[in-house]
Amino acid sequence: MQLSPSTVVVAAGRPARAQGAPVNPPVVLSSTYVSQGIQQPGELLYARMDTETWHPFEAVLAALEGAAQPAVVFSSGMAAIAAVFAFVPVGGTVVVPRHAYQATLGFADDLAKRADVRVVRVDVADTEQVVAALDGASLVLLESPTNPMLEVADLPALLAAARERGVLSAVDNTFATPLGQQPLAHGADLVVHSVTKYLAGHSDVVLGAVVASTDDLAQRVRSHRTTHGAVPGPFEVWLALRGLRTLALRVERSQTSAAELARRLAQHPKVVEVRHPSLPDDPGHDRAARLMIGFGSILGVRPVGGAAGADAVVAAVRLWVPATSLGGVESCLERRRRYPTESPTVPEDLLRLSVGIEDVEDLWRDLDQALRAIR
Ligand SMILES: *Cc1c(COP(=O)(O)O)cnc(C)c1O
Repeated sequence: MQLSPSTVVVAAGRPARAQGAPVNPPVVLSSTYVSQGIQQPGELLYARMDTETWHPFEAVLAALEGAAQPAVVFSSGMAAIAAVFAFVPVGGTVVVPRHAYQATLGFADDLAKRADVRVVRVDVADTEQVVAALDGASLVLLESPTNPMLEVADLPALLAAARERGVLSAVDNTFATPLGQQPLAHGADLVVHSVTKYLAGHSDVVLGAVVASTDDLAQRVRSHRTTHGAVPGPFEVWLALRGLRTLALRVERSQTSAAELARRLAQHPKVVEVRHPSLPDDPGHDRAARLMIGFGSILGVRPVGGAAGADAVVAAVRLWVPATSLGGVESCLERRRRYPTESPTVPEDLLRLSVGIEDVEDLWRDLDQALRAIR
């Protein structure tokens, strides 16, 4: 039976149905398994290599992303990104977005110094610019929508161009979630997630994952995890599976609220600019409408009064949590340029808002009073 993704998050990755069987998979805490002689295929040996509590989560994520083999869960999103960067040879070239997750860009810069890797930063919304950068590259790692500017890439065009040139492609799908877009269907070789965000969804675990388009790539990612040791604990993966069960409900709610807040904020007297692909005049709107299901739950908001105005909003909110991170049930916000490492092309006054699942009117009232607090 062909199931819709919102059913898959609930129904996949369950123990086999048998009288008296548990409905949820058990957490198995064991670092080693009884074994002697030659290991047979599928036999567990040692928990850094593989452990059964990972399997249900890896199966559900693979089903959501449309992969034929299990996802590979990692101890963090950055561990997953490190596994993708491991495909870049010494002296190779990697193409990354100019606006992207900070630690991803930092990692690429580190490779540039350590492994003589050339890093090319591109505006992912500019298809010609990205395609021109692909010649001679080893890897292109895309985000769409980007952090924190919410630029939307023409993923099918970029991924096809990468494939034609033999460039390995990866998409960080953290912002959109597999319910918003499936990069493998658009031609990506690899998909990366910070499971910490929407997939786990409750701001209580740090976890990552890679989903590969072929068994060969999946084996290589798995082998990287084993040798580099970036393995998650069974409890964290079990919690992430528990969070994943409500992904469809959470994403539906937070996306609807995000679009409503974007619409209202765009008319607010204390707001200069709002970025959200749901807005008809947003630069990413047409592309997102064509390529994504929904527009995501992250907003970029520039209040009046520059950086001081933005800081005043963060200081005045009572319900919204002033915190980094995103994708949790609770709404949070931060001014991105408070980090000296944030790209200077991100406006000083840009607030990144992660819309959670609270009542939208409560979220609006709190934002409105905080914006009015700007002098
Ligand atoms: C948070 C995040 C990461 C890093 O994930 P961690 O789980 O914090 O290691 C990577 N990419 C994006 C888009 C993120 O939001």
